[in-house]
Amino acid sequence: MRGLYLHIPFCRAKCGYCDFASAPGTPEETDAFLKALEKEASSYAGLAGKFNTLYVGGGTPSLLSAEQLEKLFSVISGLTGPLRGLEESTFEVNPESLDAEKAGLLKKAGISRISLGLQACQDDLLKRLGRVAMSGDFLKAFGLLRAAGFDNMNADLMCGLPGQTLKDFAASIDWLLKLRPEHVSFYALEVHGGTPFSAAGVEEEPEAAADMYEAGAAALKLAGFRRYEISNFSQPGRESVHNLNYWEQGEYLGLGPSAASYLGGERRANTAGTAAYVKTALAGDEIPLQYRETLSGRKKNAEKIMLGLRKTAGIELPDDIFIEFKEETDRLTEAGLLEKSGRRIKIKEDRLYVSNAVFREFV
Ligand code: SF4
Repeated sequence: MRGLYLHIPFCRAKCGYCDFASAPGTPEETDAFLKALEKEASSYAGLAGKFNTLYVGGGTPSLLSAEQLEKLFSVISGLTGPLRGLEESTFEVNPESLDAEKAGLLKKAGISRISLGLQACQDDLLKRLGRVAMSGDFLKAFGLLRAAGFDNMNADLMCGLPGQTLKDFAASIDWLLKLRPEHVSFYALEVHGGTPFSAAGVEEEPEAAADMYEAGAAALKLAGFRRYEISNFSQPGRESVHNLNYWEQGEYLGLGPSAASYLGGERRANTAGTAAYVKTALAGDEIPLQYRETLSGRKKNAEKIMLGLRKTAGIELPDDIFIEFKEETDRLTEAGLLEKSGRRIKIKEDRLYVSNAVFREFV
């Protein structure tokens, strides 16, 4: 099982909390980026035909023009073959950049799953986050995608936002559920250095976020969703196959600025700088890396456990890894954080929000 990820580093404007590799770009910069992406993709021609899933993220991939999308899909299909032959292909959309033509184009290209950014249903909160799209724009985009034939859609929400109450978060979930998406993800606000939120002194609110996680999980469960990962909920059979591969320590190739790969036991990530990425790729030079590391032995096994524990089903450990980490897993079980059944370990559902405390034991 191997996934292909493409990072499109352009957005209409920068959200206050965002520390992804993304920034507004001109049409010329976007064209140059697509040429660079084509160059990078061509250096992996040996992997052509070996992917099961695709995820186009960013950034805002739906910001590309219809012509640029055609170019993007020709680069992608050089590695994957026809998208309809893949097990799953996800495309991230932000509502402000979608129209009926693009929705139709994504469908025609063979995209099978859409991930649409919402974050909250209250426009005052969305404005505070620096989001371009308001809730009405989301509604319109959701309708356009359904009309184009998409029957597998995720929506993203955020919790622990400045000024957001538990009631606000519950209202966002109710609002979203009326649209009957197949998948919902929600994430607590993290304030990263270098972001406008960090400069403005916005603080994280972990306790409020924990309450929202609990209330959100309960509401989604009641609506028939299954929590299959800390932050991910799906209708039965609508789990993200591409993301499950990450949590199962499967291989993947990432293309574009900041994109991470895990191939042949090596973990690496491209430079996050779009200008440096484009310049080196077009010159035919090696793209600068943020990091490169070969995982083996205890470190590789610890990572396997940490990734597997993100899933609500946990992870069934092979005998050798079970014995290697017996002390840690016993300690966590005694502390009431882990459940053990044979060689399967999992984080207790009401402790998923403090999963970082569990992961620290394995670092
Ligand atoms: S739309 Fe997403 S990637 Fe773009 S700036 Fe906002 S949070 Fe960042």
